[in-house]
Amino acid sequence: MGSAYDERPWLALYEQGVPHEIEPGFDSVLAMFSATVRAHPDRTAVTYFDGRLTYRELDELSDGLAAHLAANGLHPGDRLAVYLQNVPQFVIALLAGWKAGAIVVPLNPMYRIRELTKILGDARPTAIVCSEQGWHEVVGDCAPRAGVGLAVTTSELDLQTRHDARLFGTLRRRPAEGCADLLEVARAHAGQRPEVPEPAPSDTALLVYTSGTSGEPKGATNTHGNLVFNAVGFKTRTSDLDGAGIFALAPLFHITGMVCQLCSAFALAGRLDLAYRFEPGVVLDALAEHRPAYLIGPSTAYVALTNHPDVSADHFASLELVYSGGAPLPSAVVEDFRARYGHYIHNGYGLTETTATATSVPAHLEAPVDQASGTLSVGLPTFNAVLRIVDDTGADLPVGEVGEIVVEGPMVVPAYWNKPEETARGLRGGRLHTGDVGFMDEQGWFYVVDRKKDMISASGFKVWPREVEDVLYGHPAVREVAVVGVPDAYRGETVRAYVSLRAGHDCTPEELIGYCKEQLAAYKYPRGIEVLDELPKTATGKILRRQLRDTARTGHQEG
Ligand code: AMP
Repeated sequence: MGSAYDERPWLALYEQGVPHEIEPGFDSVLAMFSATVRAHPDRTAVTYFDGRLTYRELDELSDGLAAHLAANGLHPGDRLAVYLQNVPQFVIALLAGWKAGAIVVPLNPMYRIRELTKILGDARPTAIVCSEQGWHEVVGDCAPRAGVGLAVTTSELDLQTRHDARLFGTLRRRPAEGCADLLEVARAHAGQRPEVPEPAPSDTALLVYTSGTSGEPKGATNTHGNLVFNAVGFKTRTSDLDGAGIFALAPLFHITGMVCQLCSAFALAGRLDLAYRFEPGVVLDALAEHRPAYLIGPSTAYVALTNHPDVSADHFASLELVYSGGAPLPSAVVEDFRARYGHYIHNGYGLTETTATATSVPAHLEAPVDQASGTLSVGLPTFNAVLRIVDDTGADLPVGEVGEIVVEGPMVVPAYWNKPEETARGLRGGRLHTGDVGFMDEQGWFYVVDRKKDMISASGFKVWPREVEDVLYGHPAVREVAVVGVPDAYRGETVRAYVSLRAGHDCTPEELIGYCKEQLAAYKYPRGIEVLDELPKTATGKILRRQLRDTARTGHQEG
């Protein structure tokens, strides 16, 4: 007999609005994009402050870059790495990679040499697209050493918007030696799309690096079918937003930005509004200028915007639908936003491995809050998905009981790149074991209450304690270290480290923080370090990370 999850109690709630079962209708986001280009060539596809590209221009420029890459050795099935902020060149590079038949590897442009080297070594890209600044600071050092033979760079100043000075200060054009210039080659070959087979739904579209419980980055192989499914799912929930503007609060290299912003804008034949990176004041100006209908981003972005001194109701007046995803959404943030601006923030939950969305609050509904814990629901399983709550043996738990969340559906990636053991462990039989802990209520609403894994979520960016610990262990004065997440009013959570020092060594927390800053992306280094004589341990000598986390949260030191 099936369990409560097989009965899919959430279907009754869908019946009031949109269907739960959908058909994507396209084999890939690229095919969907091409259909939009044919139907609406002159619609604006991307804005960047006072600059914009129409669907036709975006199509022609991405053809041109694809032609350059294909002619210089990027073959179907090869990887194309993209190391860029939220700029139009990101979108051109992504489409160009797919048009050349390649797998695109979006990389966080905050990664420093150590982090990038590790990922390039695993993905083994043939080519990379990055900014000139990124090339000079990071990529030019590690990409050639990792065997990346083809590089295309772009100047952030090519866009020449009136915000340049504010965003880039004194940045000057510094062409990178031996690299082609993105806009130059794209324009030179505009409209010359290489002849490669159209992607099939089962082909890998992206390798998105995410850290598992071990803290080692692994590439989720999001297929063209995974992506187009969630993009069409988005369109189904927002059918009245045809041609609307989506403002990109989340970075495009992250799966939320990639799917819920970029791919979803194409699904709506709509407009993607970009603003380099999340700077609250700049974002508010861009909102006022472009007046988008739809916003999605982590809850921390809403907190930052609504606490900015220049914010006014007019900034959000054009919005028709607001979503939050990728990080916990406190119900206090939802209530505050509604009270001040009249918009309800719909919650959504998912992982890189579920191609962004696994649950969401349908546009016609509001999520309940669990009375006992005060936790806001993350929503109902999205289209065609089934979620379950299981125990340690993988068996379904009864309604209301807390256990691990498991996801099945057409948005779940088939595998991790070159990691058969991780695939067998985390993606058994097409079921993704999320490592998140939660429960389902009688109506089919899901709640996330904790994480099985030790991940820290700082402004929606995922920080794995092991990685920060590894860096600190590299310091000559450090004997032992444990890294934990502590609640933070602005970031949601922030990174804190406890260390003990080797005998005869002396070192201040400030020196150790400086040491981490040199080696880690800005969101990862510890904001606080406490030096203890000894770290608390179990009888078998394992560091009691949980005890340290509890200590950090209650703010007092035991023992
Ligand atoms: P990522 O693969 O970077 O998208 O991170 C996925 C993780 O983010 C999940 O495993 C959750 O721990 C967390 N997460 C995403 N959305 C939510 C949400 N709405 N509420 C709570 N946690 C979330």
